Amino acid sequence: MTTSSQFDYDLLVIGAGSGGVRASRVAASLGARVAVVEAGRLGGTCVNVGCIPKKLLSHAAHFSQAFEEARGFGWQVPQARFDWATLIANKDREIHRLNGVYDQLLAKAGVELVTGRARITGPHSVAVGDRTLSARHILVATGGRPQMPAIAGIEWAISSDDAFSLPELPRRVVVVGGGYIAVEFASIFNGLGAETTLLHRSARLLRHFDADLGAALAAQMAHHGVQLRLERQIEAIAQHVDRGDDGLQLQLDDGPALIADCVLFATGRVPNTEGLGLEAAGVQLDARGAVLVDEGFTSSIPSIHAVGDVVDRMALTPVALAEGTVLAHRLFGGADKAAPDYALVPTAVFSHPNVGTVGLSEAQARERHGDVQVFESSFRPLTNRLSDTPEPVFLKLVVAGADQRVVGVHMVGEEAGELIQGFAVALQCGATKAQFDATLGIHPTIAEEFVTMREPVAS
Ligand SMILES: Cc1cc2nc3c(=O)[nH]c(=O)nc-3n(C[C@H](O)[C@H](O)[C@H](O)COP(=O)(O)OP(=O)(O)OC[C@H]3O[C@@H](n4cnc5c(N)ncnc54)[C@H](O)[C@@H]3O)c2cc1C
Repeated sequence: MTTSSQFDYDLLVIGAGSGGVRASRVAASLGARVAVVEAGRLGGTCVNVGCIPKKLLSHAAHFSQAFEEARGFGWQVPQARFDWATLIANKDREIHRLNGVYDQLLAKAGVELVTGRARITGPHSVAVGDRTLSARHILVATGGRPQMPAIAGIEWAISSDDAFSLPELPRRVVVVGGGYIAVEFASIFNGLGAETTLLHRSARLLRHFDADLGAALAAQMAHHGVQLRLERQIEAIAQHVDRGDDGLQLQLDDGPALIADCVLFATGRVPNTEGLGLEAAGVQLDARGAVLVDEGFTSSIPSIHAVGDVVDRMALTPVALAEGTVLAHRLFGGADKAAPDYALVPTAVFSHPNVGTVGLSEAQARERHGDVQVFESSFRPLTNRLSDTPEPVFLKLVVAGADQRVVGVHMVGEEAGELIQGFAVALQCGATKAQFDATLGIHPTIAEEFVTMREPVAS
């Protein structure tokens, strides 16, 4: 039996993103000797090329709509001008600040930071440059990366990672994909003034969400000016030269080619396990390269664990944080923490309009519970009336079982993320439709509609 003193560390974490930093800090607070190895910038995807910069750009894009709406409330807004360079510089400053915050958090927790690219060389050893570090436990928290399709000319395309540092706002953008990253970027570029096309191979946006959400969002995005090209694929990309109007020519599987200045593929992400030495160490991976872990986040090698996007369960920051916390407690004797309930993870899409959701879609509820009741409402909120904006909000409750439990709450509309967070607590507590009905509304709000829907949709 080995003791921790035989190793340099009790826990060596690879990746200082959401999951890795959380696990490091919690483990250190429980008395473990911890180091974290990071090859890039502190904070990982979320801080540098994910949630944070995306939300800032999304907020920036929303102003164009706000300027329009302001007129109905008596404001004379002169022709607004947008400056991409200012937005990117300010966004970079905020991210730099957050990188510093992460650095301080690790230092304060007593976690050693090792800079460099890590490679696992055995069940207890990791190489970083010419150093070899040993640890009783190794945590793989290396996240994921964008997946680009193998089509001719793909080198002309960008991924979401690149979109945050474009030198200028492209005039014509094509965003490829139908998931949350694709619809968010299409909304961002469109709101900032680029001619924007969203091209997706299937007819449905946001396929992991309730089907009505994707349909409602598609209608609203089209209303805001995003050109939707559904059931189309790009087969090849070439340079397009046309007397001063140079760009990219996107050859489609059907119909005439599209000309654009920028094409962004948001067609999926893959776990970051290539070149990590996992297979050689005996760690089992799935077909997509994700680390296979048990319920406690331990891999097929008992001393090697994994959390976050690299396990490919649910690629969201709060999920990576929760998994990191559970693992650290389990390894270092903290309070017993249950793994997150993946069926009840609330999430938002920061498209225009926003989408918010928690719990089961109608289809999932029908599959799991058989008999379900659905309550829906679609209406123009008060604030859209003076601005003459036709944008309706869409709300949906899914109710199942003999006790009429609310198993899904879904919304398309302004601030959906803020609003769904509170309903996630209700679902976590097992709220029933009767309890929703007994709750008084806050008037006049959009959210009050969730507690006043009485008539189920006929199924
Ligand atoms: C565009 C975009 C928008 C998103 N928006 C949201 C959102 O709104 N809300 C939300 O909850 N989630 C969002 N996400 C997802 C979220 O960012 C991820 O789920 C989260 O960052 C995963 O954390 P992680 O710890 O698993 O990995 P990461 O945060 O990706 O961290 C992995 C770290 O490991 C490092 N690394 C990799 N390999 C090595 C190596 N060999 N050696 C050393 N270091 C290494 C990387 O440099 C990185 O810093 C978004 C993602 C993207 C791409």
